[in-house]
Amino acid sequence: MSRTVYLNGSFVPFEEARIPIMDRGFLFADGIYEVSAVLDGRLVDNEAHLARLDRSLGEIGIRNPHTIAEWIGLETELAERNGLDEGVVYMQVTRGVAERDFAFPPADTPPSVVMFTQKKAIVSSPLAETGARVITVEDLRWKRRDIKSVALLAQVLAKQAAAAAGVAEAWMVEDGAVTEGSSSTAFIVTKDRRIVTRPLSTALLPGITRAAVLRLASEADLAIEERLFSVEEAHDAAEAFYTSASAFVMPVVSLDGRTLGDGHPGPLTRRLRALYIEMARAG
Ligand code: PMP
Repeated sequence: MSRTVYLNGSFVPFEEARIPIMDRGFLFADGIYEVSAVLDGRLVDNEAHLARLDRSLGEIGIRNPHTIAEWIGLETELAERNGLDEGVVYMQVTRGVAERDFAFPPADTPPSVVMFTQKKAIVSSPLAETGARVITVEDLRWKRRDIKSVALLAQVLAKQAAAAAGVAEAWMVEDGAVTEGSSSTAFIVTKDRRIVTRPLSTALLPGITRAAVLRLASEADLAIEERLFSVEEAHDAAEAFYTSASAFVMPVVSLDGRTLGDGHPGPLTRRLRALYIEMARAG
């Protein structure tokens, strides 16, 4: 099946989709993106992703070009046209095309909208079976990480450092505490079985999977602590995992080369992953 993408009002073959060089997304990374998972052909926790998209756009003063119902219609049609059973739908909105100038273009400049799908084995992921190895890197980002900006250079460098080290993810560190993963939310499980993750603030992205996992953990009467945790505490944790729309709950089995627990995905992590998959399947 040939790949179909969405560009500014039309579904077009991937090869025909073109963006003008004056698009502010290209020139300034002046835009917002969002990613929703698809499982069994259905969108997962999608309305929460669309709410975050709307909030991020509002925070930088870009008009949301679509209603929630329109977004859902576009995502569903795109997934169908691409025969997507399992993977992700990517959505991006930029401040549009205008002569290069830092300040906002005229208010009637239409935002640019791009959407595409990517197939991915999320549930039967080999990495989830073995568990991921992770390194820590310095968090080089700006101060509004709660906004899902397409300006991802610090995350690109973090993920490349992980790739160079032969591991799956990098956890970013500021003032000795883990902020989040380069494309995920970081969690540890203490030896007394408490699930710890950083509280929401402008220092990190409010992960949609994070929120669902905390809800599931609380429904299962598991102990949760929303607080900062240090790299040293993470090195010493009984278990660790990270969450994202495209990985769900991913076990971490080593951090900076130190083995966590017995070097296999931990029991609490496996339980949360199973609960999340069950929730995603229930739709
Ligand atoms: N933090 C960062 C920096 C991310 O890029 C992502 C993935 N978009 C997440 C956390 C996880 O967010 P979500 O669960 O909404 O995918």
